[in-house]
Amino acid sequence: MVHRDYQLRSRRIAAIGPSLPPRPPPSYTPAQLAKNQILAGIPNYFPIRRTRRHDRSRGLNRSGNECYRLAALQCLLHLPRALSWFRQHNEVLANTDANPRVKNPCHLNPRNAVTGVVSRTKQNCMACNMRGLISQYWGDHQMNGEEPQPLNPSDARLRLIYNYSTTDDRFAPDGQGVDPQCDAEEWMTYFLDQCQQACDPNSAPDWRPGYQALFQFEFEEERFCSVCDTPISRRTNDPASSFKQPSIGFINCPIDRASPGTVADAINAQLVEHPSGGAGIRRNCSNCGANQLLTRRFRIDAAPEYMLVKFNPAYDDTPPREPGSEVPPPIMRKITNKAELPGIDERLDLTHCQVNSSTKLEYKLVAVLPHSGEVGHGHWIATVRNHPRWYNINDGSVNQVPLNFALSNPEVVPTDWNCRHACVTRDYDSGRCWSQPR
Ligand SMILES: [Zn+2]
Ligand SMILES: [Zn+2]
Repeated sequence: MVHRDYQLRSRRIAAIGPSLPPRPPPSYTPAQLAKNQILAGIPNYFPIRRTRRHDRSRGLNRSGNECYRLAALQCLLHLPRALSWFRQHNEVLANTDANPRVKNPCHLNPRNAVTGVVSRTKQNCMACNMRGLISQYWGDHQMNGEEPQPLNPSDARLRLIYNYSTTDDRFAPDGQGVDPQCDAEEWMTYFLDQCQQACDPNSAPDWRPGYQALFQFEFEEERFCSVCDTPISRRTNDPASSFKQPSIGFINCPIDRASPGTVADAINAQLVEHPSGGAGIRRNCSNCGANQLLTRRFRIDAAPEYMLVKFNPAYDDTPPREPGSEVPPPIMRKITNKAELPGIDERLDLTHCQVNSSTKLEYKLVAVLPHSGEVGHGHWIATVRNHPRWYNINDGSVNQVPLNFALSNPEVVPTDWNCRHACVTRDYDSGRCWSQPR
């Protein structure tokens, strides 16, 4: 018996042995490792003041067409590691008369010396304004009993952010003083860009790398013949613009109304660029001849802490041209039928999209910015996670909602709300990720 047992066991070992490929130890690309090391130095908790009696989110009251900015700000105000990055701006490390040391200062950057934009402030700096807004938003002022009250449109910090924005033509009021209706993602991207430019790299070497670790994907690009899929190598003299640039996420994802899929499907689709919609690069293929269009495929070389996915729910509803008549003017509409809109995943597994897929890359949902109305006008709200709760924030009003609300392409009255942007955060060990010091 002993002998037979031994035989069986050795046969089993022989059978299992060769079928197990050696598994590489988990590792990161150098670019990912650099991002991770920077993120480790930026705390991941909400800066809620200890004296605040309720950690509920706060509304931001609106005057005029401000909702796109307020929804974008609400999203940013619920990203704890990003809040810490803002709070490291002009952070006083050692405040002695002899040797005041300030981290990430902005007063040495000539671009902040512009006068006349924000009057009576020492500097013209968007990051300073956001830092001030954060301490007000999560601080204990304007508490009515326990509940934090919304900030008014006349709030000094909101006005400073607004006045700064109006220096960009897209966000400036028209001649009659009426604010334009803009896109929340366009404003958020503009806002973050202004913030990361606030510091001069010489006096604040950690500031921009912090922004890049929080908000910027870096991609590796591979090129193939679009006919036969033969790999075609990059040329050293290819213009930089022909490579995929770092980005905040996946912007203007198209929606196939017949088969809308999910956020994960939209990301997968963006990682392959088909020749018809791509950069239009042509190269000689060793297999099928000269001058073939290229297909480009992208893999994530380094993933940031936060990712934004933005859908474009507009479609062309122009009636077909009648024979003999003139071309009708184009009519653009927004998808409002829920069945034609993509599903929102709470968790996204992007492990397989990486250059080095030996380590998991997962994201989880932290905010959805829905829009109601038509193409070009309507209203923005923000559905945000303030762990462990979710809030639907419509200007000044804040209501706790279940997770399903955020996942449902929020349908409230009126029923034509739909997801324009979903913002997600990287999923680490959840215990470490969401602890709030109180
Ligand atoms: Zn500043
Ligand atoms: Zn080919």
